[in-house]
Amino acid sequence: MAEIKFDFDIDGALREDPYLDSFQLSYMFEQTRQSLTSALERKLGGVTCAEHGKEPIITITGRYDAEKEEMDIQYHIEPCCQLFMVRVVKLLNNVN
Ligand SMILES: [Zn+2]
Repeated sequence: MAEIKFDFDIDGALREDPYLDSFQLSYMFEQTRQSLTSALERKLGGVTCAEHGKEPIITITGRYDAEKEEMDIQYHIEPCCQLFMVRVVKLLNNVN
């Protein structure tokens, strides 16, 4: 299984009467972590580089913009080599 790191945070200060308060946000972060982890396990379970036998390291950055009240999620993949990178990206883009 790929190594998954999460870096979730809130950007800026929450509004006076936010749509999600900080407690709800940490709950939402936790839910998002869990669903992303199971989605990644489904897509990348047992996937290793054919040449190096390594698993990818995936960092998922989530930024909640307190002003816009929107969550932005980005994937950063660190594979052992370029070929494996292509394979991992293909697997991640598979819709299922
Ligand atoms: Zn490799």
